[in-house]
This record gives sequence, structure tokens and C-alpha cells, in this order.
Amino acid sequence: MGNPKAFMTVPRLEAGHRPIHERICDFSEVEQTLSETERRNQASRCMDCGVPFCHWACPLGNRPPEWQDAVYRGDWEKAFKILSLTNDFPEFTGRICPALCEKSCVLNHCMDAPVTTRENECSIIEKAFAEGYIKPRTYERNGKRVAVIGAGPSGLSAAARLNCMGYEVTVYDKMNKSGGLVRYGIPNFKLDKFIINRRIKFMEDEGIHFINDCYIEPGTVPEGYDAYVVATGTPQARDLSIPGRELSGIYFALDMLTQQNEILEGVEFPADKLVNAKGKRVLVIGGGDTGSDCIGTCHRHEALEVTQIEIMPQPPQGHNPATPWPWWPQVMKTTTSHEEGCIRRWCLASNRFIGDSEGRLKGVEVERVEWAPSPDGGRPSMKPTGEKEIIECDMVLLAMGFLKPRQPDYPANVFLCGDAKNGASLVVRAIASGREVAVQVDSYLTSRQN
Ligand SMILES: Cc1cc2nc3c(=O)[nH]c(=O)nc-3n(C[C@H](O)[C@H](O)[C@H](O)COP(=O)(O)OP(=O)(O)OC[C@H]3O[C@@H](n4cnc5c(N)ncnc54)[C@H](O)[C@@H]3O)c2cc1C
Ligand code: SF4
Repeated sequence: MGNPKAFMTVPRLEAGHRPIHERICDFSEVEQTLSETERRNQASRCMDCGVPFCHWACPLGNRPPEWQDAVYRGDWEKAFKILSLTNDFPEFTGRICPALCEKSCVLNHCMDAPVTTRENECSIIEKAFAEGYIKPRTYERNGKRVAVIGAGPSGLSAAARLNCMGYEVTVYDKMNKSGGLVRYGIPNFKLDKFIINRRIKFMEDEGIHFINDCYIEPGTVPEGYDAYVVATGTPQARDLSIPGRELSGIYFALDMLTQQNEILEGVEFPADKLVNAKGKRVLVIGGGDTGSDCIGTCHRHEALEVTQIEIMPQPPQGHNPATPWPWWPQVMKTTTSHEEGCIRRWCLASNRFIGDSEGRLKGVEVERVEWAPSPDGGRPSMKPTGEKEIIECDMVLLAMGFLKPRQPDYPANVFLCGDAKNGASLVVRAIASGREVAVQVDSYLTSRQN
């Protein structure tokens, strides 16, 4: 902790975002960067608390105080070395992690101005790539082979860890390129795909094999490996089975998001297969991150109007006494996509889709619902109120989450990780799960050897 008073004298400064009128005209990353001096000042705000709640909150157990101090002193290489001990892909989390660490930062508790830990993390890894602190290494092989099925962040982190331990690792994925939802779900304006390409190339240079366009039937595994990691995510989106579901103009969120990411990579789609919001009144059903990504994409398509509805009540603004510090606060979240313009409504259930005589969507009947708290503190119960209305729209995007997959019974040498194991979650949790499974695979294979 180089500057013990910085938390009192240096205000929190976020890098901010490109102006709205500029950024909605392209799909480039919206977040900006600080100068090196400003970044080091921000790192100096860390108080190096005796009990660092940021360690506790980060699913990876990242150690922000240690690397904040190195950044403050300008020792970026040391900062990178500390960061890389716990995080295999800081360039992902540094961009899209909701920063659980910042919510539990003591400076968040006492002055609503946590250290800019996520942004600092991103700066460290970008500096490491720019200055060549991060270099591919070769590892002594131990003669054992592991297959990883699924090249999302959990499979990739499992592969990276197992490779370091000396296993010969092959990663299979059904898609043309690796990255999972980070490539095919998350829009470029949150994370440019160059970031994933750079990491995959690095992993290849470290000796990991990638086999793409290869679907592995659930319950089966490719032959010839000593152990397997199944990291296949949550392939099935939650549907809305209400009358009118067959109308044209109703899509799953990923129909649009995946296609848009592929278009930006040069893939061409026939006009009748395009999921494009240009000139449309769009209704996004689902109030989470996926819905927000749909909103940002619709703006860039030049939608006429975007509305987002959520069945749950509007969360409180600012602080929520039900989720006090240092816990993750259940509060109203406004993303850059919301800032770009969107009507947001809560406590609305969807009753039926309404179409015209040619089977095209023209609206959704919604009904206001009330939520009563559960006496035992469990999930609140929902009550329809009978207050119905029609929201006119030409396009609906279903963004209501993903079903947790039911996994078949696998033999003892097959291990699950990431969303495939835990259900839909966060990139940081997927990476943590991949690291954990690598240790399990290693102890399984090592114990069999003895
Ligand atoms: C639109 C959207 C936005 C999100 N935004 C954020 C965010 O901002 N921040 C955040 O932290 N998290 C975000 N998430 C969540 C995050 O992307 C996931 O939690 C994370 O990617 C899960 O990683 P995973 O490796 O477990 O699974 P996935 O990323 O889903 O990867 C699974 C991989 O397995 C492959 N696969 C599946 N089945 C097979 C098969 N049978 N054979 C071969 N390969 C197969 C898939 O092609 C895929 O590459 C978002 C999710 C979505 C959908
Ligand atoms: S991975 Fe996320 S929670 Fe962990 S230190 Fe980085 S920003 Fe914070």
C-alpha cells in the first residue's frame, strides 16, 4: 500500500464509455481506457484492508490489493504475475465481469466509491500483452491425454490448467470457433472478438489442440483419452409456451446475438434468415444481461423502439437493506445498452402473442402481477391482477435465461464444469469452475497412477 491516504484524496474515476450518438453506429467496444498515470492513481486508492473482502467476493479468489500496489508503483510485470496466479483470462473478466469484488470493497461500504478493480485488472493484462510479459511456455509432458468438450470459458480454463500440469489437452467444440458464449452470445460492444482470438492463439502456442465443428453426442466421449472434462454450457434457452408462440417475429435472444456476432466475423446469411430489428418495434422479454445485450444490438440495427419487460418487481435503486454489504446487492442495474434508450417495465407477465391474418406478430398481451413475500423468506409468490394491456410490437426477443441441463451418467473419468454443471452463471464463475475441475482431473489421474 504505497499511498495510505489516496482513498481520501483521489476520487474514483471510471474510464467511461464512448458517447452514445457515436457508439450506436458501430459494434466496437463501448468502454474507454484511462491514461497510465490515472490508472496508477486509481490503483493507489486500495487500502490493503486487513480483511480483504474482495478476495472473498471474487469466485477466482483474485488478490486485488497485491496487484493494486504493484500497479501503483508502476511494476506492471509484478502485477501481471500476481494476477495470473488466480485468473487465466483477465482480459475477459476485466471487460465483462460484474465485479463482485467492487461491491464488497470496503470503500464501497464507507463511501460508495470502490476501487476500480475490474478496470485495473483489464489494464494489467493489456499491458502484459503489449509489453510481452505474457509469453507462451512449453511444459514437460506427463504422457497422459485429456479431452475437454466445450470451448467456453470453463472448458478453456480447464484446458489451460491441465496443459500447465503436463497433460496433452485437446479441446472439442461444435462451433466453428472457440470461446463459447463469450464469442457467440456476448456482443462485440462489450468484448471484441480479437480478445478471444488472441487468447486461443496463445493457448495453441502453448501446445493445446483445438478441434472445432465437432459435435460430441451428450453421454458419449471421443476415444483415446485418460480423462474428460464436459464443459458444454447450457444449450437450451427457456421458452415461453403461450398462445401465438408459432407466429413469425418471435426469436430467442441468441438467434439474434449469435447471428450478429457471426455477421461481424464475415459470415453471410440469406435475407430471409436475418434476425434484424431495423425499423421494428421490439419487445424484449426478460430483464437480465441477455435482454440488455439484445437492446444494445437492436439500437445498432436501428430499431424504431425497444421495450424490455420483466415479470419480477423493479429492484430498489442504490442500496437494498435485504442484501447488505459485503454481499452482492440486488439493486437496479442500468447498463450502457439501457442508457442508449429503452422503455423498461416490471411486474408484467406475458399472456399471449397476437398476430395478423398472415401469421405475423403484431403485439403481446401482458398482465400486471403482484408479488407477495414468502413468510419463510423463500421465493415470493406471484398473483395476477387481471389488469391487462397489449404492447404493440413486430419483434419479440425471448431473454428469460437458460435451462440447467440434465447430464447423463458418465463414467468416473468424466468431470463436469462451468454452466453445464452449475446452470447459467457468470464468466468468472465458469473460469473458477474450470480451474477447480482441472485439479479434480489431476488428482484422479495421479491417484490411479499410484
Ligand atoms: C447474451 C449473454 C450475455 C452474457 N453476458 C455476460 C456478462 O456480461 N458477464 C458475465 O460474466 N457473464 C455473461 N454471460 C454468461 C456467460 O457467458 C456464461 O456464464 C459462460 O460463458 C459459461 O461458460 P461455459 O464455458 O460454462 O459455457 P459456454 O460459454 O456456454 O460454452 C459451452 C461450449 O460448449 C460447446 N458445446 C455445447 N454442446 C456441445 C457438444 N455437444 N459438442 C461439442 N461442443 C459443445 C458450445 O459450442 C460452447 O462453445 C452472458 C451470457 C449470455 C447468453
Ligand atoms: S474477476 Fe471479477 S470479481 Fe474477480 S477481481 Fe476481477 S472483476 Fe473482481
